[in-house]
Amino acid sequence: MSTATMRTIEQIIKSQRTVEGGGFNVRRPFPTTAIDHIDPFLLLDEMGPSDYAPGKAVGAPSHPHRGFETVTYLMNGSMEHRDTMGTCAVIRPGGVQWMTAGSGVVHSELPTPDMMRLGGRMHGFQLWVNLPAAKKMVAPRYQGYEADELAVVALPNGGSIKIVAGVVHGAAGPVETTSPMTYAHAVLEPGDVVEWSPDAGHTALVHVFVGGATVNEREVQEGDMVVCGRDAGMVRVNAGDTRTEVLLLGGQPLGEPVSRYGPFVMNTREEIAQAVDDYQNGRLVR
Ligand code: MN
Repeated sequence: MSTATMRTIEQIIKSQRTVEGGGFNVRRPFPTTAIDHIDPFLLLDEMGPSDYAPGKAVGAPSHPHRGFETVTYLMNGSMEHRDTMGTCAVIRPGGVQWMTAGSGVVHSELPTPDMMRLGGRMHGFQLWVNLPAAKKMVAPRYQGYEADELAVVALPNGGSIKIVAGVVHGAAGPVETTSPMTYAHAVLEPGDVVEWSPDAGHTALVHVFVGGATVNEREVQEGDMVVCGRDAGMVRVNAGDTRTEVLLLGGQPLGEPVSRYGPFVMNTREEIAQAVDDYQNGRLVR
């Protein structure tokens, strides 16, 4: 086992349950009244797990975004995405959609017709990633990857790490990020250990959503998000004697002012007012 320095732990956030979009249950570490964002991340929602009866699945009908990226990763269920770039894509279990809203996108994120008709389990994550000021008005972009296109690292006791972006255990995920970033989903069987070395100075978060673990020697439970310090050092997740699932999120802080209003995230109130005006007057999408 590595003896490298471990990062300090700045705080442990207890996720809150809330209702979002068309009425789906989410578990949300942030934003809360206490924590607006964790630079460069603006929001993390764990969607479900929810078991829908036939005809009862819900999603987010048509809505806009500007100034950041929305990332959807599904573990169970299927969602259909349509946007003003002309994209129509289905996200299936294990798949990811990384959408750069940039200057403006209107999209819908809804259960597929099959999911709607038959019902079933929906479980996944939506992450909002901030864009640097210089890139908030870039042309929108859509990146979609199926489960078998992600990088996967097998762990000794049967667990695995699925890497969407960045590098963990030497394997690189397929997504091209706007600023340096890590996004990985680790499934740890009892005794499995993940050692992650985020760049010094970068934000590093561990969201525990199944089981429990020790993260850099601190015991954490399901629903806890560990916010590491930005000191040099690694992040070590040890499942102990339980089966555990975590999300690893890392990124370079932007260090810029954040002005947010619903689906718009800019740097100033004037830019937010402009976004609202553009949307109301049909100029959000270029
Ligand atoms: Mn959206």
